[in-house]
Amino acid sequence: MTAKSKIDKQARFYESVNRNFDRAAALTTIPKGLLEQIKVCNSVYQMRFPVKIGGQYRVIEAYRVQHSHHRLPTKGGIRYSHLVNQDEIMALAALMTYKCAIVDVPFGGAKGGVKVSPRSLTVPQLEKITRRYTTELIRKGFIGPGVDVPAPDYGTGSREMAWILDTYLTFNHGEIDGPACVTGKPVAQHGIRGRTEATGRGVYYGMREFFSHKDDMKSLGMTPGIAGKTLVIQGLGNVGSYTGLICQNEGDAIIVGVSEIEGTVHNPDGIDIDKLLKFRKDRGSILGFPGTKTLKNPEDWISINCDVLIPAALESQIYVGNAKQVKAKVIAEAANGPVTAEAEIILRKMGVMIIPDMYINAGGVTVSYFEWLKNLSHQRFGRIEKRYRKDIYSGILDQIEEHTGNTVSRRDRAQLTKGADEIDLVRSGLEETMSTAYNEIREIWKRKKNVEDLRTAAFVSALNKIANDYIRMGVFP
Ligand code: NAD
Repeated sequence: MTAKSKIDKQARFYESVNRNFDRAAALTTIPKGLLEQIKVCNSVYQMRFPVKIGGQYRVIEAYRVQHSHHRLPTKGGIRYSHLVNQDEIMALAALMTYKCAIVDVPFGGAKGGVKVSPRSLTVPQLEKITRRYTTELIRKGFIGPGVDVPAPDYGTGSREMAWILDTYLTFNHGEIDGPACVTGKPVAQHGIRGRTEATGRGVYYGMREFFSHKDDMKSLGMTPGIAGKTLVIQGLGNVGSYTGLICQNEGDAIIVGVSEIEGTVHNPDGIDIDKLLKFRKDRGSILGFPGTKTLKNPEDWISINCDVLIPAALESQIYVGNAKQVKAKVIAEAANGPVTAEAEIILRKMGVMIIPDMYINAGGVTVSYFEWLKNLSHQRFGRIEKRYRKDIYSGILDQIEEHTGNTVSRRDRAQLTKGADEIDLVRSGLEETMSTAYNEIREIWKRKKNVEDLRTAAFVSALNKIANDYIRMGVFP
């Protein structure tokens, strides 16, 4: 690694996001001062709190950043990692603002981070830290259904969200809308079906939309459609595993490489992701999975021959030092910020298309929004109308049979008269959201002068929407 590329890898993530912001902002007519207001983080809460672990005092470093208050509540995940720092959380909070605007989720962006390594802590220790962190957020008014609503991110999941909810309700006893203070909760604890898979499913819907445009594929030298496309995934956590499973099982894509912290496995004929996940659960590693070759160098996944690279682990994974090794024609940024701004310049010259993070991984926040709506309406989607619709559709089929003399098979009748369940509504709402948002971005990319790539187009779309909010609402006082 050269000195320059090393600096680029360590480059400040927030600066990288802002560089992309500036590139797009220059192509808008938004007033300069307003652009500055949209760009900056509105509130940054840096905290240190003590926990007692094994009889010892331990000081925990943690953050919550609310990037934009133009719409409330603010929204964004909580990350647990030993790498957490203020710059990273500010960058992630900013990305949340733009992401919400792109998929028309009416929230400002936020992000939280706790500097701990979850693997080195026991479950009770993690619970203690989570509850204390939540208490700090409550004390400073940094959490609440109409204020700021966290969700899972790297290193956290539904278990942590349940602890956050319980802590919030302990201090806000009787608050009827309390469960909307956090999303990504277990289904039995006010969560919503389809949230766990949502980011990966959104990546699939977004890629399917991207590959559906014949003209775009022609100029990339690719055939339309996701079926048969070869993918390499970095990170087999929440986002990476569901992306792989759904692309493989519903999209007929072929996963030819998977990279995890222990190394990379490669098979040009395809790796069954269901079986690989089970293998890793049993053995604690993907290495040695039958039929695959092991690549030991941590960055080997980048140079595997494939159609799409899907980084789904952490930021700054593709940087100046390794960007030239990319063989894929497309990078789908399932993780936040996996390509540095400097590396993107190289990739653009190489003709690599990037489907940007702030669009492609927006499925999580979209379904989080559905969960928040569910919590505020105090009912499961589909519960009230499912039976009613089933009866109406049955009646229509009866009439068709009577008037045509034909009979609809039992299987078709069951399918046609099935009223929608919560999971059906969530998936269809997500599919519609990802499809509409892609076409909005693509329209800007194709029609607007000087917009050369999808990331710039996504930024232009987000900035115009946020600026419109400020302009229409006015500025207080
Ligand atoms: P996760 O903790 O569930 O999984 C991350 C996985 O990446 C882990 O299995 C980890 O071992 C692996 N990993 C870490 N470093 C690696 C490396 N150098 N090489 C290969 N694998 C590595 O986290 P997640 O929730 O899946 O989040 C992943 C990314 O997606 C993050 O950038 C996050 O901000 C972003 N994201 C997550 C969500 C969500 O709903 N969880 C939504 C949008 C974006």
